[in-house]
This record gives sequence, structure tokens and C-alpha cells, in this order.
Amino acid sequence: MAGVKGGDVIDLRSDTVTLPTEEMLEAIRRASLGDDVYREDPTVNRLEEMAAKKMGKEAALLVPSGTMANLVSLMSNTRRGDCVILEAESHIYWYEVGGISTIAGLMPWPIRGYMGALDPKDVEAAIRPKDIHFPETTLVCIENTHNRAGGTIITPRQIEALSKVTRENGLKLYMDGARIFNAAVALKVDVREFTRHVNNLMFSLSKGLCCPVGSVIVGDSDFIERARKIRKMLGGGMRKAGIIAAPGIIALEKMIDRLEEDHVNAKLLANGIKGIEGLYVDLRRIQTNIVLVDLSGLGVNSNIFIAMLRERGLLVSSHSKNVIRMVTHFGIRREHIEKALAIIEETVRELRKRSKS
Ligand SMILES: *Cc1c(COP(=O)(O)O)cnc(C)c1O
Repeated sequence: MAGVKGGDVIDLRSDTVTLPTEEMLEAIRRASLGDDVYREDPTVNRLEEMAAKKMGKEAALLVPSGTMANLVSLMSNTRRGDCVILEAESHIYWYEVGGISTIAGLMPWPIRGYMGALDPKDVEAAIRPKDIHFPETTLVCIENTHNRAGGTIITPRQIEALSKVTRENGLKLYMDGARIFNAAVALKVDVREFTRHVNNLMFSLSKGLCCPVGSVIVGDSDFIERARKIRKMLGGGMRKAGIIAAPGIIALEKMIDRLEEDHVNAKLLANGIKGIEGLYVDLRRIQTNIVLVDLSGLGVNSNIFIAMLRERGLLVSSHSKNVIRMVTHFGIRREHIEKALAIIEETVRELRKRSKS
């Protein structure tokens, strides 16, 4: 199903459907392994060193998923009962089963951003003052690129402005950077421009970078030491994890620059959709590999439209009642975008015919 095997189905639901390259599979087979809970897996150690260096931080930690990376990082940055400021549409707040509350024991304090970016003034205003009645605010989380905002980039300057507020108020700044390499590639800057103003962050190996499994947490040594212990507590201490780290090393060496192709394809897709009557795309948001399409003008909800596309061999996902999401990734090429556009056009035509009769 993934990608476009056999030329049949075009899968734009997510960049998580990417499959490992042949080179990754070969690296898995050849990986030197050891017990990583004893810190004796040379392949994991190598990936963690590479990741820390690439991000300009002291240390890194491999975890099974982005969700666990966020949970471990939340717990490593705070104490139970603390208040955490985050964006109201952030992945942590929407899609992580409420672990921030049920497991980490934290109080989320969501505030609205603009195109995914928090306004430093709003953040400052949301910090609870020292008062017997209030939980203590200790952490601000940002998301980069911002998934539900449509893959939008929080720029290094915006991050710097937020870091000024967090530093002045004694808070920490954490970045859910599941797709941070998409941001770096899109702005053509070193990823360290995005990481230098945050205390710590995570990024995903299993999305655009095509690894089968894994995310990496990066930060200073003390933070990573705490994170290692909390990962163990949550059941995320993996023994011969070199089989996960081996493709991660290839991802960092070879799969980052090619994200540009996904961005070109997303723009192609968005521009094509813009010309179809009844569909709305906010082109300002097409900054990386995600395309949100508003169907309100068609008078049909996402689930019905998604089912119609699926019948014609195009898989997309639901963002909300009237908005669908498409994500470009490795394996999706220009011709697949053209075919996807043809399918969307045909589906819209079919809907119009139905509404007339
Ligand atoms: C996908 C995603 C995650 C979670 O990653 P999983 O590996 O699916 O658990 C976290 N944050 C953002 C912004 C994401 O897009």
C-alpha cells in the first residue's frame, strides 16, 4: 500500500508510510549490536553521537516513537503538577492520548498561535504568576514544522524571540521537531539555526527520513541522563536497538537533502488544487510537505470526500470536518502528483454533477 507500489494506489495520508530503502535494510542486516540498556550497542551510540552533533547539543537518546519522545521530554523538563504552555493545535495536545496529563501529571495550558507560531506576548501573558493558588509554569513547547497548521515553519527568529521570554522567566523551551529537517531544508539553513535557541528537542526518523521506527531526543547531558531513566521507566529501554539505529544513521547521512523534492511536489499539488472550483488552499501555508485543502465550498464533509478519493486510488487523511490533509514523501514523484490532481478533479466533477441532478 505504501507509496505507489505497482503504480496503483497513491498514498498521501502521511510521510509515516515511507518504507526503508534497500541500503537501510542492508545496514540493519550488518549492524553491530549490543545491549543498549547497558549502553553497549555501538550502532545506537554512534547514531546518538551523530544526532547530538548535528543538532549542536551535548547528547541524544533514541526512543521508539515521536509520542514517547515528547512524553519523556515533558517529564524530563518538569515536575509533576507543573503547568506547560503549548499551542492549542499542537500534536502533544491533540494526538498523544492525553499522556501529558495522565502519565506526566502536567497541566497543559493551550494558547492559540498564528500559522502554528506562538506569539511571545501571549506566552508571557500565560505564565502563571507566583501565587499560592497557581501551579508553577516551567515549560513552553513549540512544534516545528507545525503539523495541524499545514507544515508551517517556525523561523529561527521566532524561536529566538520566544526563548527570550522563557529565559527571562526561568522557563525551559522544548521543540517537538518531528519534521525539523523539513523546516531546515525549506529555509536552506543549517538545522542548528532552529535548535540553538531551544533547551532540547526531538525529531522523527520514521517520517520523511524513511526509517522503519524511531525518534531521537537531543539536549544537554543532564537532561538526556534524566530522559534515559524515564525512557526505561516507560518501558522504552530497548535492548539490541542497533537494528533501529542503523537506518537512522543512513537517514542522517543521506535522506535529509532530498526532502526538497517533497516540498516541490507539495507546491505542485497545492497550485493544481487551487485551480479547482470549490476547493480552497491557503498557499501561504504550503511551506514544506503538507497540503491542507478546505472542502467547505463543495458542500461535502471530509469523510465522504476521502471515501470517494479512495475508490479512485488516492489515499488522503482527515484534518477536520471540512479539511483534508495530504503529505508528500519519498516515493511520490511528479507523475503521482499529476495523477492525484486528475483524481481530485474527477471527484469534484462527479460531486457537482450529483448536486445538479
Ligand atoms: C508524528 C508526530 C509526532 C508523533 O510521532 P509518532 O512517531 O507517530 O509517535 C509528534 N509530533 C509531531 C509534530 C508529529 O507530526
